[in-house]
Amino acid sequence: MPRAVVTGGAGFLGSHLSETLLARGWDVVAIDNLSTGSLGNVAHLRDDPRFTLLEHDIVQGIPLDGPLAGRVDAVLHFASPASPPAYLARGIETLEVGAIGTQHALELTRANEGARFLLASTSEVYGDPLVDPQTESYWGNVNPIGPRSVYDEAKRYAEAITMAYHRTHGLDTHIVRIFNTYGPRLAPGDGRVVSNFLTQAIRGEPLSVYGDGLQTRSFCYVDDEVRGLLALLDAPYHEPVNIGNPDEFTVLELAELVHEVTGTTTPIVHEAIPVDDPRQRRPDITLARELLGWAPTVDLVDGLERSYSAYLAAARG
Ligand code: NAD
Ligand code: UDP
Repeated sequence: MPRAVVTGGAGFLGSHLSETLLARGWDVVAIDNLSTGSLGNVAHLRDDPRFTLLEHDIVQGIPLDGPLAGRVDAVLHFASPASPPAYLARGIETLEVGAIGTQHALELTRANEGARFLLASTSEVYGDPLVDPQTESYWGNVNPIGPRSVYDEAKRYAEAITMAYHRTHGLDTHIVRIFNTYGPRLAPGDGRVVSNFLTQAIRGEPLSVYGDGLQTRSFCYVDDEVRGLLALLDAPYHEPVNIGNPDEFTVLELAELVHEVTGTTTPIVHEAIPVDDPRQRRPDITLARELLGWAPTVDLVDGLERSYSAYLAAARG
């Protein structure tokens, strides 16, 4: 059996990734310090003898003994706070996991000759983009000292060190730039817009729209995202690739769709917009289409319906 290590494996994306890898015949070791992830995210995997969860902070190093003794065929590096409120509250930890944690994950890959490495990067490397849609060749518009810089610059550094390990050590590295992904197990309280709106609708609370709500995002359903990034792991390509759904919505349009899907009519309240909140975001996925034959298949209404059902089921326990 091939064996994968998923850092951040008890998080939203990491748990879906672990599940899919197991289903495809991999053994999986998830490493997670449970800072923003949870045991509940992997509760359904714990009985599978091919799944191991190591509770550990990867900034402290990644032990090559214990559950990690023996061959590792792929390292999928997903550990990092990802929601703006989470990384704003953990600025230094976010920089550390992006820098030191990434180097530890790269060293684990290097210790296993021929192993592949996948970095979970982000559309935030484009900052508040001045081009639309964003292509991989765009270098971005990031405020290097603003509050979001702890995340944006950590991920930009993570991309840089990943390319350096590829160029210096010939490591088989891959970089996925993930655009706003949502779905079941996106933590209801983690502060991202889809989880906030669904939780608010379920509780009968007003939907909190930051600023005028005319800023845009392009939302990708988790199954599409995972299929795309695993295709990238297999591709003979080492530079960053956007994986996201190019259908673009304003936050107000998202709020309307949440009303429609949940059958609720709670009011919309406008709240202060976070500093440096990007005005627009939409991936150009030409490269992913041509290189991987990948395109998303789940539209926003369908994905919101699936997420809403999962949130309702989780709320009922
Ligand atoms: P998440 O918060 O659910 O998952 C992150 C996981 O990393 C959590 O389980 C957390 O406990 C773990 N973690 C954090 N620091 C760690 C450390 N030092 N050691 C071990 N584990 C640690 O967030 P997510 O949405 O699943 O994001 C996963 C990855 O994908 C992140 O790297 C994020 O930057 C990237 N990403 C996600 C999105 C998205 O829309 N979901 C978009 C762009 C990039
Ligand atoms: N947002 C909002 N209400 C919320 C949470 C977020 O209007 O309750 C906005 C946020 O200002 C941003 C967009 O929704 O413009 C997406 O925010 P999210 O935190 O999900 O991800 P980001 O793309 O900012 O990382």
